[in-house]
Amino acid sequence: MPTIERGGARRALVARVLSLEREKGFADTAVLGGLERFVSRHVPEARPLIAGYAQLDPPSRAKAVERVERWLADPSSARPREPLAAIPVSRLPGVGKRRAELLGRLGIETVEDLLTFFPRRLEDRSQLRPIGEVRDGETVLVRGAVRAKSRVKVRRGLELIKVAMDDGTGFLFAIWFNQPWLWDQIVQGERYALYGKAQLRYGELQLENPVWEREGTDVQTGRWVPVYPATEGLTQPVLRGLIQHALAEVADRVGDVVPQEIRERQALPTRREAISRIHAPRDPHDFERARRALAFEELLLLQVGILRCRAPAATPGRSLVPDRRFLDRFVGSLPFALTPSQWRALEEIERDLASPVPMLRLLQGDVGSGKTAVAAASCVLTVSAGAQAAIMAPTEILAEQHHLVLQELLAGLPVRVGYLAGGIGRRERQAMLDAIAGGELDVVVGTHALIQEGVAFRDLGLAVIDEQHRFGVVQRAALEAKGAGTNILVMSATPIPRTVVLTLYGDFTVSVLDEMPVSRGRVRTEWLSLSRREDVYREVAGWLARGEKGYVVFPLVAESEELDLRAASEGCDELQKRFPGHRVALLHGRMPSEDKRRTMAAFRAGAVQLLVATTVVEVGLDVPDASFLVIEHADRLGLAQLHQLRGRIGRKGQDAICYALADPTTDEARQRLSAFRDLTDGFKIAEADLRIRGPGDLLGTEQSGFVSQLRAADLTRDLGLLEKARVEALRLVADGVPDDLAREVERRFGEALSLLGV
Ligand code: ADP
Ligand code: MG
Repeated sequence: MPTIERGGARRALVARVLSLEREKGFADTAVLGGLERFVSRHVPEARPLIAGYAQLDPPSRAKAVERVERWLADPSSARPREPLAAIPVSRLPGVGKRRAELLGRLGIETVEDLLTFFPRRLEDRSQLRPIGEVRDGETVLVRGAVRAKSRVKVRRGLELIKVAMDDGTGFLFAIWFNQPWLWDQIVQGERYALYGKAQLRYGELQLENPVWEREGTDVQTGRWVPVYPATEGLTQPVLRGLIQHALAEVADRVGDVVPQEIRERQALPTRREAISRIHAPRDPHDFERARRALAFEELLLLQVGILRCRAPAATPGRSLVPDRRFLDRFVGSLPFALTPSQWRALEEIERDLASPVPMLRLLQGDVGSGKTAVAAASCVLTVSAGAQAAIMAPTEILAEQHHLVLQELLAGLPVRVGYLAGGIGRRERQAMLDAIAGGELDVVVGTHALIQEGVAFRDLGLAVIDEQHRFGVVQRAALEAKGAGTNILVMSATPIPRTVVLTLYGDFTVSVLDEMPVSRGRVRTEWLSLSRREDVYREVAGWLARGEKGYVVFPLVAESEELDLRAASEGCDELQKRFPGHRVALLHGRMPSEDKRRTMAAFRAGAVQLLVATTVVEVGLDVPDASFLVIEHADRLGLAQLHQLRGRIGRKGQDAICYALADPTTDEARQRLSAFRDLTDGFKIAEADLRIRGPGDLLGTEQSGFVSQLRAADLTRDLGLLEKARVEALRLVADGVPDDLAREVERRFGEALSLLGV
């Protein structure tokens, strides 16, 4: 038959190409476009045998070629198995077009997607209760015989079926609304299991729309039942059924990802067992064991991916040898003594600068912990070693403040400080660029203007990024690329929970400032309804009368920026009228740089006593004698933002007060505001934030790519697991990552990780 002949000719052609590839030493040069593509085109069935060929090393390539040759010689004996990720769910019995579509909405397209659609929690339907003991309000499992049944048409569109069940200890009723098909399915005299919430109605014990099945079935009842996240029009039983079916068919084809050695060291079940158990656990302990194994696998892959993105060999570093005398001079010139944790961070940074491996360090510390001084000292160390340093801030106002502070801090030293931001004139900018390129400037402070094209450093040794959650990894990489093997110091605005640090900054080492330089006075926080606004401004009048200054913040929300700006400006006018004896000024991000500068200077100097601002002040403004803060519509802001804002007051140790005006409409917002009112410690706030919002939001859009790929891991509670995964990942990366694991990293996290790439 012609088709077989043609098939035979193809196989012969492929065989020839394979032997050519062997002759050429497995260099993937036998055919144009690569061997994988060629094989896939001519013998698609053999594709899985050669997947990822180009990424393999020659010995593994030899093995892959052998596999294909064996298959060519006898396709039936060594039939390649279709990977589960290649089998569409529509091939499962019971999945037609409609269900395939519904599953698609849950992101389930393949059998693998289905098997890795994990339940979130378990429901205990294992405890059988005698009907005679069931009390009002309890959710229970009962079993018994159906003694009577009736159907009632209450009115148009409302029909109910009512069944009386008796188990020898008592009887109750089950009622289902608008499920007419049950009439034939539930047979009088037969025995059933029911699970649902019992309610006492008109003296009768009733279960409304209970889960039911014939006694002895034990699928939906009589056990711990997995509960899946949102089901989009599929019911839990349907989803459970599909998954159980898929498991029965293909569970034996689920292969391991975590190398056996690691799996044994961590005492984890195989992937196959974990996937089977998580969908049909015996009890919560069994469920958690399976979940942990799957979570560990995810976290391991993610950590390997993150660590490999920055393989140290890829960027040859340089050693900066700082001159300690320079640092001593700087420290001696400060108006305060560094705290022990500031010293510790500095010493860690100094060691990193001296090491030939480029530094990647995250400086963490609560608002007011003194990160800027550490940054300045790091610049001094770098400059003393003959290199340049850059500090990049997320907004112009903050960049400018850093510039002022640095000029002040470095005034006594032969260090030349420059400033580069979007708002400066062309001539000035050109002069600045020349000075940066020529090395006449030692430290350059700026916004992302620093990473634009045309900015070339003579010798950038250190890049400090005041991150405030606003720069993405891409910008970080762009700054890094301005120098060869540049050392990177990222300062996070507020503390980040350790799980998030490891996820997002898995390749960073961390320095923590865990003490406050100035013992903070009492910063009280009150959360008040908007109807109490008058009371709040009466108190503000009191503060102003006592000669204090402070802020009123109108949140600026991206979706309604114009309106919010108008609200802020009207608010400013209104307050000026209310407080005619004081100067009220407006500050927002869209103002010309010169105006911003003037307004900030006037506020700092005390000429302006009340600063009405949009959220621009959240980032690191340092006016130590500001003592009160009113936040209008505080429910619109995130917890970290609120905490940042509050960090603007009471900075020299004086008592201060923060009024959060809000009538939150969602549960989440209420939780957020209570956490804000009750917690002052930044790390506690960060953890609450993670709990309330979940990791996706916390990380920001760009970074949430990682998190949305996590199906079993839970960053709010898997810190221990994450730390173990990290240790194993470090070991793997050092010893060489096995090919199949590397491919799995790429397959699952490739897209998210590509954002990290330079
Ligand atoms: P943050 O970590 O929020 O960026 P800053 O660097 O802005 O904190 O520091 C907060 C305030 O504390 C600043 O006014 C700064 O001058 C001051 N400060 C920093 N370090 C010390 C110290 N060791 N002793 C006293 N004051 C300090
Ligand atoms: Mg700061």
